[in-house]
Amino acid sequence: MVDLRSQYLKIKSEIDQGIQDVIDSCSFINGPVVSAFQKELEKYLGVKHVIPCANGTDALQVSMMSLGLQPGDEVITASFTFIATAEVIALLRLKPVLVEVDPYTFNIDPKAIERAITPKTKAIVPVHLFGQVAPMEEIMEIAARHNLFVVEDNCQAIGADYIFNDGSRKKAGTIGHIGCTSFFPSKNLGCYGDGGAIFTNDDELARQMRVVVNHGMVVRYYHDYVGVNSRLDSIQAAILKVKLGRLDEYAAKRREAAGFYDMAFANHPKLKTPVRYEKSNHVFHQYTLVTNNVDRKALIEFLGAREIPAMIYYPVPLHLQKAYIDPRYKPGDFPVTEHLCETVFSLPMHTELDLEQLTFITNSVLEFLNR
Ligand SMILES: *Cc1c(COP(=O)(O)O)cnc(C)c1O
Repeated sequence: MVDLRSQYLKIKSEIDQGIQDVIDSCSFINGPVVSAFQKELEKYLGVKHVIPCANGTDALQVSMMSLGLQPGDEVITASFTFIATAEVIALLRLKPVLVEVDPYTFNIDPKAIERAITPKTKAIVPVHLFGQVAPMEEIMEIAARHNLFVVEDNCQAIGADYIFNDGSRKKAGTIGHIGCTSFFPSKNLGCYGDGGAIFTNDDELARQMRVVVNHGMVVRYYHDYVGVNSRLDSIQAAILKVKLGRLDEYAAKRREAAGFYDMAFANHPKLKTPVRYEKSNHVFHQYTLVTNNVDRKALIEFLGAREIPAMIYYPVPLHLQKAYIDPRYKPGDFPVTEHLCETVFSLPMHTELDLEQLTFITNSVLEFLNR
């Protein structure tokens, strides 16, 4: 699905030098390169505070730990997402409240959020799924009216812009009270191991989250809160510094590949190509198609036999995951999400796809569909 090797070979000398510099300095944890990367990311995103941490799941957990929520408080999130979003809510003994997504953009539906709000609701966690930003302007308006926190799960859309009604733009993850991202290797800004970061423009929340990621420690060895240990290590920061400089170029490459797929599959009766939401510039973490009357398993096997990977993100909606079975929910409650789980599939999407590969992939998909 990704080609990290070819990408590495193009930036090898810079990456190798960055790693070697960290080893020479022996400043492996919280070294100067971590703060340098933090500053560069703040500048790139146009956000006041970036708090590096160990992975995207921690970023979500630390955010939620810093909001002063009580067990049983309700947190609204999308029914169609990666499990981490709901997992941290459940781990903190908060109550995940799932809501339906839009059938075209796959992102959380603001009307469904509005309907799910109760007196116990404290926060909304929109997920910018597959690289496209959720309808943040509507979500922020709802949150303001009901006095709720908004934590953006931006693990799949770093670098995307959100375009407001007045034409102004902000980077995904910098619109809500807090934004979270992951630097897992296959993400749009990926390191060579685990990593993550939290963004906020709120000084007080930033202060609190810096304490939480560091064992709840305000003064050295004085622990005012129950925290966690969540750090980005210096070697990963050195790699991310190199790749951040190329993030926009990488997004352009992904968009180019997506454009090729779009053209090849345009108006095919059995495929719906990804719909572009007019308020976001898609950064294509995934290129996800909705099939119509296609034996999806056979298609994936057919592609697999030609060594073309294809994946289903995600095969099971959150409310039907075994660990999250809840008497509040039953099959059929989220028809859009359930339909997507049954019909979507994603094709290889990364920065190194060339014309030959794209042609081979699209021809193979069409050959299967038209046979
Ligand atoms: C990848 C991802 C996460 C978790 O990130 P990790 O770094 O793997 O912990 C959370 N939410 C979404 C939507 C993701 O895609």
